[in-house]
Amino acid sequence: ERIISANLMMEEQAVELSLRPRYLSEYIGQSQVKDNLKVFIEAAKLRKEALDHVLLYGPPGLGKTTLSNIIANELGVNLRTTSGPAIERPGDLAALLTNLQEGDVLFIDEIHRLHRTVEEVLYPAMEDFALDIMIGKGPSARSVRLELPPFTLIGATTRAGLLSAPLRDRFGVVSRLEFYTVDELAYIVARASEILGVSVIGEASQEIAMRSRGTPRIANRLLKRVRDFAQVRGDGIVTHELARSALGLIQVDPLGLDSIDHKMLRAMITIYRGGPVGLDTIAATIGEEGQTIEDVYEPYLMQIGFLQRTPRGRMVTPLAYRHLGLPVPQENAA
Ligand code: ATP
Repeated sequence: ERIISANLMMEEQAVELSLRPRYLSEYIGQSQVKDNLKVFIEAAKLRKEALDHVLLYGPPGLGKTTLSNIIANELGVNLRTTSGPAIERPGDLAALLTNLQEGDVLFIDEIHRLHRTVEEVLYPAMEDFALDIMIGKGPSARSVRLELPPFTLIGATTRAGLLSAPLRDRFGVVSRLEFYTVDELAYIVARASEILGVSVIGEASQEIAMRSRGTPRIANRLLKRVRDFAQVRGDGIVTHELARSALGLIQVDPLGLDSIDHKMLRAMITIYRGGPVGLDTIAATIGEEGQTIEDVYEPYLMQIGFLQRTPRGRMVTPLAYRHLGLPVPQENAA
């Protein structure tokens, strides 16, 4: 697994819990999403109603799961967690829904991967808090409506575009999570270092933040790896110099790119003259899945202006050439 992967790694699960903010006031960044949610949560509490359904979308590792936990905490209700692919049959969803208590939050991660038949059960559940169940078969079959307690569905997805229109329309609150700024990530690193009991001094937290691809989960992971170097090779204190050399040793460059990003950009430059080149071609050239490139790696490279998406394919920008120390071809210089 790549050190800069935004996916949760097995060994991280225990520490993950201790680092996870529990209330909106501890949740750093995403101020617009947070400010709006604060109002909607407050209003729902005043009216003693369930919060409207919330759709959170954006690249992995930006805090969608964390935010769902916080919403449930702030509302003072239970949170049930599942994911799109885990709900195989309509009956699985019915079981989850009928076990909810009034006002509870049901969190469905990767909601774009729900089966069609399951999704259809979800529509009346979201809209009318009701389940339509078919009893019997053939001509005597009839539909029975089962009342559900009012609840809040929070759906999370990296690909809002793949959601069907009827599902998307049933969310009252739709929030896009953005990549975090370096200052916000430095703050997240400082907060995590306090919880982990590691001393991070000077510009070290900024250095880690700059290499974290705008993603809190990566910031926390890089901090832990740098801490290892500080303990084994130093005196346990994470200085700027130590952070810089440790991150160099684990091959995360000053902008958070690793060897695979370098390989991809270099392949696009040397084989395809910087593009435009299609996603499938890039995927085949570097031996990665197209979808992984599109969902996980490419958003950050586009965010920092290294890649551009054009109707004819992806293009490497002059900024990326310069970062890799390669001459910018005349036709790309504009
Ligand atoms: P995925 O889409 O892969 O499930 P996610 O977007 O749900 O990822 P989380 O698991 O919520 O990401 O966040 C990863 C970790 O990053 C959290 O455990 C937490 O430690 C940290 N984190 C996320 N957002 C914030 C934040 N706003 N402030 C502080 N820490 C955060």
